[in-house]
Amino acid sequence: MRELTAVREIVQAFLTADRPEEVFRFALERVSPVVGATFASVYLIDGASELMRLAAAYNWPRRYEPWLGEMRVRLGFGPSGEAASERRAIEIPDVFADPNLEDWQEVASELGFRALIALPLQTTNRVLGAVTFYFADARHFNSERRGLLRIVAAQMAATAEKAALIDELRRANAALTESKAEVEQQYLAVVEARRVKDEFLTNVTHELRTPLTAVMGYISLLQEEFSGPLTESQRHDLTLARDASERLLALIDNLLEMTTLSRGGLDVQVETFDPRDPLREAAATTKGRPEPTELRIEVPDDPMPFMRSDRRKLTKILSNLLSNAYKFTARGVVTASLEVASGRALYRVHDTGIGVPHASQRLVFEEFRQVDGSLTRRYGGTGLGLALSRRLARLLGGDIDLASTPGEGSTFTMEIPLEYQPVDTESAG
Ligand code: ADP
Repeated sequence: MRELTAVREIVQAFLTADRPEEVFRFALERVSPVVGATFASVYLIDGASELMRLAAAYNWPRRYEPWLGEMRVRLGFGPSGEAASERRAIEIPDVFADPNLEDWQEVASELGFRALIALPLQTTNRVLGAVTFYFADARHFNSERRGLLRIVAAQMAATAEKAALIDELRRANAALTESKAEVEQQYLAVVEARRVKDEFLTNVTHELRTPLTAVMGYISLLQEEFSGPLTESQRHDLTLARDASERLLALIDNLLEMTTLSRGGLDVQVETFDPRDPLREAAATTKGRPEPTELRIEVPDDPMPFMRSDRRKLTKILSNLLSNAYKFTARGVVTASLEVASGRALYRVHDTGIGVPHASQRLVFEEFRQVDGSLTRRYGGTGLGLALSRRLARLLGGDIDLASTPGEGSTFTMEIPLEYQPVDTESAG
Protein backbone atom coordinates (compact mmCIF):
# COMPACT_ATOMS: atom_id res chain seq x y z
CA MET A 1 0.00 0.00 0.00
CA ARG A 2 2.80 2.41 0.93
CA GLU A 3 4.59 1.56 -2.29
CA LEU A 4 1.51 2.17 -4.40
CA THR A 5 0.90 5.49 -2.68
CA ALA A 6 4.50 6.52 -3.30
CA VAL A 7 4.27 5.59 -6.99
CA ARG A 8 0.99 7.45 -7.38
CA GLU A 9 2.47 10.57 -5.79
CA ILE A 10 5.54 10.40 -8.00
CA VAL A 11 3.41 10.11 -11.13
CA GLN A 12 1.40 13.07 -9.91
CA ALA A 13 4.62 15.07 -9.38
CA PHE A 14 5.79 14.08 -12.85
CA LEU A 15 2.60 15.43 -14.37
CA THR A 16 2.59 18.74 -12.53
CA ALA A 17 6.21 19.76 -11.81
CA ASP A 18 7.96 22.29 -14.07
CA ARG A 19 11.53 21.41 -13.31
CA PRO A 20 12.82 17.81 -13.53
CA GLU A 21 15.05 18.31 -10.44
CA GLU A 22 11.92 18.81 -8.34
CA VAL A 23 10.47 15.51 -9.54
CA PHE A 24 13.73 13.69 -8.89
CA ARG A 25 14.11 15.09 -5.39
CA PHE A 26 10.50 14.37 -4.55
CA ALA A 27 10.75 10.80 -5.90
CA LEU A 28 13.93 10.11 -3.92
CA GLU A 29 12.34 11.50 -0.77
CA ARG A 30 9.23 9.36 -1.18
CA VAL A 31 10.82 6.12 -2.30
CA SER A 32 13.97 5.94 -0.18
CA PRO A 33 12.12 5.41 3.15
CA VAL A 34 9.76 2.92 1.53
CA VAL A 35 12.62 0.73 0.32
CA GLY A 36 14.77 1.44 3.38
CA ALA A 37 17.57 3.32 1.57
CA THR A 38 19.78 5.58 3.71
CA PHE A 39 20.61 7.95 0.88
CA ALA A 40 20.20 8.17 -2.87
CA SER A 41 21.18 10.16 -5.93
CA VAL A 42 20.23 10.80 -9.55
CA TYR A 43 22.83 11.40 -12.27
CA LEU A 44 22.08 12.65 -15.75
CA ILE A 45 24.30 12.41 -18.81
CA ASP A 46 25.77 15.82 -19.63
CA GLY A 47 24.87 16.69 -23.21
CA ALA A 48 26.74 14.57 -25.72
CA SER A 49 29.54 13.76 -23.25
CA GLU A 50 30.54 10.52 -21.54
CA LEU A 51 30.01 12.09 -18.15
CA MET A 52 27.06 12.21 -15.79
CA ARG A 53 26.45 15.01 -13.32
CA LEU A 54 24.31 15.07 -10.18
CA ALA A 55 20.68 16.09 -10.76
CA ALA A 56 19.25 15.31 -7.28
CA ALA A 57 20.40 13.86 -3.98
CA TYR A 58 18.63 12.56 -0.91
CA ASN A 59 19.99 12.49 2.61
CA TRP A 60 23.70 12.33 1.75
CA PRO A 61 26.05 12.69 4.71
CA ARG A 62 26.27 16.44 5.24
CA ARG A 63 30.03 16.70 4.90
CA TYR A 64 29.89 15.25 1.38
CA GLU A 65 27.26 17.62 0.11
CA PRO A 66 29.70 20.35 -1.02
CA TRP A 67 31.60 18.16 -3.48
CA LEU A 68 28.63 16.05 -4.55
CA GLY A 69 27.59 18.63 -7.10
CA GLU A 70 31.12 18.82 -8.49
CA MET A 71 31.42 15.09 -8.92
CA ARG A 72 31.24 13.57 -12.43
CA VAL A 73 30.51 9.90 -13.01
CA ARG A 74 32.00 8.46 -16.19
CA LEU A 75 29.76 6.10 -18.17
CA GLY A 76 30.82 2.49 -17.59
CA PHE A 77 32.61 3.30 -14.32
CA GLY A 78 31.26 2.47 -10.87
CA PRO A 79 27.77 1.01 -10.32
CA SER A 80 25.91 4.15 -11.55
CA GLY A 81 28.14 4.48 -14.62
CA GLU A 82 27.71 0.82 -15.43
CA ALA A 83 23.95 0.86 -14.96
CA ALA A 84 23.73 3.70 -17.49
CA SER A 85 26.16 2.28 -20.04
CA GLU A 86 24.85 -1.30 -19.86
CA ARG A 87 21.20 -0.27 -19.51
CA ARG A 88 20.51 -2.69 -16.69
CA ALA A 89 20.17 -2.57 -12.90
CA ILE A 90 23.43 -3.15 -11.02
CA GLU A 91 22.95 -4.69 -7.59
CA ILE A 92 25.61 -4.95 -4.94
CA PRO A 93 24.16 -6.82 -1.93
CA ASP A 94 27.30 -6.38 0.20
CA VAL A 95 30.29 -4.26 -0.79
CA PHE A 96 32.45 -5.88 1.88
CA ALA A 97 31.69 -9.42 0.77
CA ASP A 98 33.17 -8.97 -2.69
CA PRO A 99 36.98 -8.80 -2.91
CA ASN A 100 36.68 -7.21 -6.40
CA LEU A 101 35.14 -4.14 -4.83
CA GLU A 102 38.08 -3.33 -2.63
CA ASP A 103 38.25 0.22 -4.02
CA TRP A 104 34.70 0.77 -2.93
CA GLN A 105 35.03 -0.55 0.54
CA GLU A 106 36.88 2.50 1.76
CA VAL A 107 34.26 4.83 0.24
CA ALA A 108 31.46 2.66 1.63
CA SER A 109 32.73 2.70 5.20
CA GLU A 110 33.44 6.43 4.92
CA LEU A 111 29.89 7.16 3.70
CA GLY A 112 28.22 4.49 5.78
CA PHE A 113 26.63 2.09 3.27
CA ARG A 114 26.98 -1.60 2.62
CA ALA A 115 24.59 -2.38 -0.23
CA LEU A 116 23.44 -0.43 -3.26
CA ILE A 117 21.30 -0.69 -6.34
CA ALA A 118 21.79 1.45 -9.45
CA LEU A 119 19.15 1.59 -12.19
CA PRO A 120 19.43 3.15 -15.65
CA LEU A 121 17.13 6.02 -16.56
CA GLN A 122 16.16 5.00 -20.07
CA THR A 123 13.48 5.50 -22.66
CA THR A 124 12.93 3.23 -25.63
CA ASN A 125 15.63 4.88 -27.70
CA ARG A 126 18.12 6.44 -25.34
CA VAL A 127 19.65 6.36 -21.90
CA LEU A 128 19.58 9.59 -19.91
CA GLY A 129 21.34 8.74 -16.64
CA ALA A 130 21.05 6.57 -13.54
CA VAL A 131 19.41 6.53 -10.10
CA THR A 132 21.24 4.86 -7.21
CA PHE A 133 19.98 3.89 -3.76
CA TYR A 134 22.43 3.17 -0.93
CA PHE A 135 21.62 0.96 2.09
CA ALA A 136 23.26 0.84 5.50
CA ASP A 137 22.96 -2.96 5.76
CA ALA A 138 23.76 -5.81 3.44
CA ARG A 139 20.66 -6.91 1.63
CA HIS A 140 19.23 -8.90 -1.22
CA PHE A 141 16.55 -7.26 -3.30
CA ASN A 142 13.34 -9.15 -3.84
CA SER A 143 11.43 -8.85 -7.10
CA GLU A 144 8.78 -6.56 -5.61
CA ARG A 145 11.42 -4.04 -4.51
CA ARG A 146 13.07 -4.24 -7.89
CA GLY A 147 9.70 -3.77 -9.56
CA LEU A 148 8.97 -0.66 -7.53
CA LEU A 149 12.42 0.80 -8.22
CA ARG A 150 12.05 0.10 -11.95
CA ILE A 151 8.75 1.97 -12.03
CA VAL A 152 10.37 4.90 -10.24
CA ALA A 153 13.35 4.85 -12.63
CA ALA A 154 11.03 4.71 -15.65
CA GLN A 155 9.09 7.66 -14.31
CA MET A 156 12.30 9.62 -13.75
CA ALA A 157 13.47 8.78 -17.28
CA ALA A 158 10.20 10.09 -18.70
CA THR A 159 10.65 13.25 -16.62
CA ALA A 160 14.20 13.75 -17.89
CA GLU A 161 13.06 13.11 -21.45
CA LYS A 162 10.22 15.59 -21.15
CA ALA A 163 12.60 18.19 -19.69
CA ALA A 164 15.14 17.60 -22.48
CA LEU A 165 12.44 18.03 -25.13
CA ILE A 166 11.17 21.21 -23.51
CA ASP A 167 14.74 22.45 -23.33
CA GLU A 168 15.34 21.72 -27.00
CA LEU A 169 12.12 23.47 -27.87
CA ARG A 170 13.15 26.49 -25.81
CA ARG A 171 16.54 26.61 -27.47
CA ALA A 172 15.04 26.29 -30.94
CA ASN A 173 12.58 29.03 -30.06
CA ALA A 174 15.35 31.29 -28.78
CA ALA A 175 17.40 30.67 -31.94
CA LEU A 176 14.38 31.50 -34.05
CA THR A 177 13.71 34.72 -32.14
CA GLU A 178 17.35 35.65 -32.52
CA SER A 179 17.51 35.03 -36.26
CA LYS A 180 14.25 36.94 -36.72
CA ALA A 181 15.77 39.88 -34.87
CA GLU A 182 18.86 39.57 -37.06
CA VAL A 183 16.82 39.65 -40.25
CA GLU A 184 14.93 42.69 -38.99
CA GLN A 185 18.24 44.33 -38.18
CA GLN A 186 19.56 43.60 -41.65
CA TYR A 187 16.40 44.92 -43.23
CA LEU A 188 16.74 48.19 -41.30
CA ALA A 189 20.39 48.40 -42.34
CA VAL A 190 19.42 47.94 -46.00
CA VAL A 191 16.72 50.59 -45.76
CA GLU A 192 19.18 52.96 -44.11
CA ALA A 193 21.89 52.22 -46.68
CA ARG A 194 19.43 52.95 -49.47
CA ARG A 195 18.40 56.20 -47.83
CA VAL A 196 22.03 57.27 -47.46
CA LYS A 197 22.73 56.34 -51.09
CA ASP A 198 19.75 58.35 -52.34
CA GLU A 199 20.70 61.29 -50.17
CA PHE A 200 24.28 61.13 -51.41
CA LEU A 201 23.17 60.95 -55.04
CA THR A 202 20.81 63.87 -54.60
CA ASN A 203 23.54 65.99 -53.00
CA VAL A 204 26.18 65.08 -55.53
CA THR A 205 23.95 65.65 -58.54
CA HIS A 206 22.93 69.04 -57.14
CA GLU A 207 26.57 69.93 -56.62
CA LEU A 208 27.46 68.81 -60.16
CA ARG A 209 24.62 70.68 -61.74
CA THR A 210 25.60 74.11 -60.40
CA PRO A 211 29.11 74.40 -61.92
CA LEU A 212 27.93 72.68 -65.10
CA THR A 213 25.25 75.31 -65.57
CA ALA A 214 27.95 77.94 -65.14
CA VAL A 215 30.14 76.23 -67.76
CA MET A 216 27.22 76.18 -70.18
CA GLY A 217 26.55 79.84 -69.46
CA TYR A 218 30.12 80.77 -70.37
CA ILE A 219 29.97 78.67 -73.52
CA SER A 220 26.86 80.63 -74.53
CA LEU A 221 28.63 83.93 -73.84
CA LEU A 222 31.52 82.84 -76.03
CA GLN A 223 29.20 81.63 -78.76
CA GLU A 224 27.37 84.92 -78.79
CA GLU A 225 30.75 86.62 -79.15
CA PHE A 226 30.39 88.83 -76.07
CA SER A 227 34.07 88.24 -75.45
CA GLY A 228 35.12 89.01 -78.98
CA PRO A 229 34.76 87.54 -82.46
CA LEU A 230 35.29 83.78 -82.99
CA THR A 231 37.17 81.97 -85.69
CA GLU A 232 35.40 79.18 -87.58
CA SER A 233 37.32 76.45 -85.76
CA GLN A 234 36.66 78.04 -82.36
CA ARG A 235 32.97 78.07 -83.22
CA HIS A 236 33.18 74.38 -84.13
CA ASP A 237 34.97 73.45 -80.90
CA LEU A 238 32.46 75.39 -78.84
CA THR A 239 29.60 73.49 -80.47
CA LEU A 240 31.24 70.20 -79.44
CA ALA A 241 31.79 71.52 -75.91
CA ARG A 242 28.18 72.59 -75.76
CA ASP A 243 26.87 69.20 -76.98
CA ALA A 244 28.99 67.35 -74.46
CA SER A 245 27.78 69.62 -71.65
CA GLU A 246 24.18 69.10 -72.68
CA ARG A 247 24.61 65.34 -72.57
CA LEU A 248 26.21 65.60 -69.14
CA LEU A 249 23.39 67.83 -67.94
CA ALA A 250 20.78 65.37 -69.24
CA LEU A 251 22.53 62.55 -67.38
CA ILE A 252 22.68 64.53 -64.16
CA ASP A 253 19.02 65.45 -64.52
CA ASN A 254 18.11 61.79 -65.05
CA LEU A 255 20.03 60.81 -61.93
CA LEU A 256 18.41 63.57 -59.95
CA GLU A 257 14.97 62.60 -61.15
CA MET A 258 15.62 58.94 -60.40
CA THR A 259 16.68 59.59 -56.82
CA THR A 260 13.85 62.03 -56.24
CA LEU A 261 11.48 59.37 -57.56
CA SER A 262 12.95 56.73 -55.23
CA ARG A 263 12.37 59.01 -52.30
CA GLY A 264 8.79 59.51 -53.36
CA GLY A 265 9.44 63.20 -53.85
CA LEU A 266 8.53 63.64 -57.51
CA ASP A 267 5.29 65.50 -58.13
CA VAL A 268 2.95 64.94 -61.01
CA GLN A 269 2.04 68.20 -62.76
CA VAL A 270 -1.37 67.60 -64.25
CA GLU A 271 -2.29 69.56 -67.39
CA THR A 272 -5.02 69.16 -69.97
CA PHE A 273 -3.67 68.56 -73.49
CA ASP A 274 -4.06 66.73 -76.77
CA PRO A 275 -2.41 63.28 -76.41
CA ARG A 276 -0.64 63.87 -79.74
CA ASP A 277 1.28 66.85 -78.31
CA PRO A 278 3.92 64.97 -76.28
CA LEU A 279 4.68 62.76 -79.27
CA ARG A 280 5.03 65.68 -81.68
CA GLU A 281 7.12 67.61 -79.21
CA ALA A 282 9.46 64.66 -78.52
CA ALA A 283 9.85 64.05 -82.26
CA ALA A 284 10.71 67.70 -82.85
CA THR A 285 13.27 68.04 -80.06
CA THR A 286 15.02 64.67 -79.83
CA LYS A 287 18.47 64.80 -81.34
CA GLY A 288 20.71 62.09 -82.67
CA ARG A 289 18.79 60.68 -85.63
CA PRO A 290 21.27 59.18 -88.10
CA GLU A 291 21.04 60.68 -91.60
CA PRO A 292 19.97 57.38 -93.28
CA THR A 293 17.27 56.68 -90.68
CA GLU A 294 13.79 57.90 -91.42
CA LEU A 295 11.35 59.06 -88.73
CA ARG A 296 7.67 58.41 -89.31
CA ILE A 297 4.90 59.81 -87.14
CA GLU A 298 1.62 57.93 -87.24
CA VAL A 299 -1.13 59.69 -85.31
CA PRO A 300 -4.87 59.79 -86.09
CA ASP A 301 -6.03 62.96 -87.81
CA ASP A 302 -9.49 62.84 -86.19
CA PRO A 303 -10.34 64.91 -83.16
CA MET A 304 -9.26 63.13 -79.99
CA PRO A 305 -10.35 63.16 -76.36
CA PHE A 306 -8.16 65.37 -74.18
CA MET A 307 -5.71 63.92 -71.76
CA ARG A 308 -5.23 65.03 -68.14
CA SER A 309 -1.78 63.94 -67.08
CA ASP A 310 1.82 65.15 -66.85
CA ARG A 311 2.69 66.38 -70.32
CA ARG A 312 6.34 67.14 -69.63
CA LYS A 313 6.99 63.70 -68.21
CA LEU A 314 5.31 62.00 -71.18
CA THR A 315 7.40 64.09 -73.57
CA LYS A 316 10.51 63.14 -71.68
CA ILE A 317 9.74 59.41 -71.79
CA LEU A 318 8.96 59.51 -75.51
CA SER A 319 12.12 61.46 -76.12
CA ASN A 320 14.12 58.77 -74.25
CA LEU A 321 12.52 56.05 -76.36
CA LEU A 322 13.17 57.95 -79.59
CA SER A 323 16.74 58.69 -78.66
CA ASN A 324 17.33 54.96 -77.97
CA ALA A 325 15.69 54.05 -81.26
CA TYR A 326 18.00 56.44 -83.13
CA LYS A 327 21.01 55.18 -81.24
CA PHE A 328 20.40 51.55 -82.16
CA THR A 329 19.12 52.09 -85.72
CA ALA A 330 22.04 53.18 -87.86
CA ARG A 331 19.91 52.96 -90.99
CA GLY A 332 16.25 52.07 -91.22
CA VAL A 333 12.96 53.42 -89.96
CA VAL A 334 11.81 54.70 -86.61
CA THR A 335 8.05 54.98 -86.23
CA ALA A 336 6.37 56.87 -83.43
CA SER A 337 2.63 56.23 -83.22
CA LEU A 338 -0.37 56.83 -81.02
CA GLU A 339 -3.73 55.13 -80.53
CA VAL A 340 -6.41 56.03 -78.02
CA ALA A 341 -8.78 53.34 -76.76
CA SER A 342 -10.71 52.47 -73.60
CA GLY A 343 -9.60 55.58 -71.74
CA ARG A 344 -5.93 54.94 -72.41
CA ALA A 345 -3.30 56.38 -74.71
CA LEU A 346 -1.06 53.84 -76.39
CA TYR A 347 2.25 55.34 -77.53
CA ARG A 348 4.56 53.16 -79.61
CA VAL A 349 8.13 53.70 -80.66
CA HIS A 350 9.13 51.10 -83.20
CA ASP A 351 12.52 50.77 -84.85
CA THR A 352 14.18 48.48 -87.37
CA GLY A 353 17.49 48.51 -85.49
CA ILE A 354 19.63 45.87 -83.80
CA GLY A 355 16.91 44.65 -81.40
CA VAL A 356 17.24 43.32 -77.85
CA PRO A 357 17.98 39.63 -77.12
CA HIS A 358 15.12 37.85 -75.34
CA ALA A 359 17.17 37.19 -72.23
CA SER A 360 17.81 40.92 -71.78
CA GLN A 361 14.34 42.24 -72.48
CA ARG A 362 13.46 42.47 -68.79
CA LEU A 363 16.90 43.61 -67.68
CA VAL A 364 17.01 46.75 -69.83
CA PHE A 365 14.40 48.33 -67.54
CA GLU A 366 16.65 47.96 -64.51
CA GLU A 367 18.87 50.82 -63.34
CA PHE A 368 22.31 50.99 -64.96
CA ARG A 369 21.61 47.89 -67.05
CA GLN A 370 22.67 47.60 -70.64
CA VAL A 371 22.41 44.61 -72.93
CA ASP A 372 26.13 44.41 -73.34
CA GLY A 373 28.73 46.47 -71.54
CA SER A 374 30.97 46.38 -74.60
CA LEU A 375 28.23 47.99 -76.71
CA THR A 376 28.31 50.98 -74.38
CA ARG A 377 31.61 52.13 -75.77
CA ARG A 378 30.13 51.96 -79.25
CA TYR A 379 26.74 53.50 -78.43
CA GLY A 380 27.33 55.47 -75.24
CA GLY A 381 24.67 55.87 -72.55
CA THR A 382 24.39 54.95 -68.89
CA GLY A 383 21.60 52.42 -68.66
CA LEU A 384 19.37 54.83 -66.79
CA GLY A 385 16.96 56.01 -69.48
CA LEU A 386 14.61 53.03 -69.60
CA ALA A 387 14.60 52.52 -65.83
CA LEU A 388 13.59 56.12 -65.34
CA SER A 389 11.08 56.02 -68.20
CA ARG A 390 9.31 52.98 -66.76
CA ARG A 391 9.21 54.50 -63.28
CA LEU A 392 7.75 57.72 -64.65
CA ALA A 393 5.16 55.80 -66.70
CA ARG A 394 4.15 53.87 -63.56
CA LEU A 395 3.98 57.08 -61.60
CA LEU A 396 1.39 58.24 -64.13
CA GLY A 397 -0.57 55.00 -63.67
CA GLY A 398 0.70 53.29 -66.80
CA ASP A 399 3.61 51.12 -67.89
CA ILE A 400 6.13 50.46 -70.64
CA ASP A 401 6.76 47.12 -72.35
CA LEU A 402 9.21 45.90 -74.89
CA ALA A 403 8.77 43.47 -77.76
CA SER A 404 11.84 42.84 -79.85
CA THR A 405 13.47 40.45 -82.28
CA PRO A 406 17.25 40.69 -82.44
CA GLY A 407 18.36 41.78 -85.89
CA GLU A 408 14.88 43.00 -86.84
CA GLY A 409 14.06 45.74 -84.40
CA SER A 410 12.28 46.76 -81.21
CA THR A 411 8.91 48.12 -80.21
CA PHE A 412 8.48 49.96 -76.95
CA THR A 413 4.83 50.39 -76.02
CA MET A 414 3.77 52.87 -73.39
CA GLU A 415 0.24 52.74 -72.08
CA ILE A 416 -0.99 55.69 -70.01
CA PRO A 417 -4.48 56.47 -68.66
CA LEU A 418 -6.01 59.56 -70.27
CA GLU A 419 -7.13 60.67 -66.82
CA TYR A 420 -4.37 60.67 -64.21
CA GLN A 421 -5.36 59.16 -60.85
CA PRO A 422 -2.89 59.72 -58.02
CA VAL A 423 -1.16 56.41 -57.15
CA ASP A 424 0.72 55.19 -54.15
CA THR A 425 4.31 56.22 -54.97
CA GLU A 426 5.59 53.12 -53.15
CA SER A 427 4.22 50.93 -55.88
CA ALA A 428 5.46 53.19 -58.64
CA GLY A 429 8.85 51.47 -58.54
P1 ADP B 1 21.26 53.78 -72.18
O1 ADP B 1 21.51 55.16 -71.66
O2 ADP B 1 22.43 52.86 -71.99
O3 ADP B 1 20.70 53.73 -73.54
P2 ADP B 1 18.66 52.78 -71.43
O4 ADP B 1 18.09 52.43 -70.10
O5 ADP B 1 17.96 53.78 -72.22
O6 ADP B 1 20.17 53.20 -71.18
O7 ADP B 1 18.79 51.45 -72.24
C1 ADP B 1 19.35 50.30 -71.65
C2 ADP B 1 19.84 49.35 -72.70
O8 ADP B 1 18.74 48.79 -73.42
C3 ADP B 1 20.68 49.99 -73.77
O9 ADP B 1 22.02 50.13 -73.36
C4 ADP B 1 20.54 48.99 -74.90
O10 ADP B 1 21.39 47.89 -74.68
C5 ADP B 1 19.11 48.51 -74.76
N1 ADP B 1 18.17 49.26 -75.65
C6 ADP B 1 17.37 50.28 -75.31
N2 ADP B 1 16.63 50.70 -76.35
C7 ADP B 1 16.99 49.93 -77.41
C8 ADP B 1 16.60 49.86 -78.79
N3 ADP B 1 15.67 50.68 -79.30
N4 ADP B 1 17.19 48.91 -79.56
C9 ADP B 1 18.10 48.07 -79.05
N5 ADP B 1 18.53 48.08 -77.77
C10 ADP B 1 17.98 49.00 -76.94
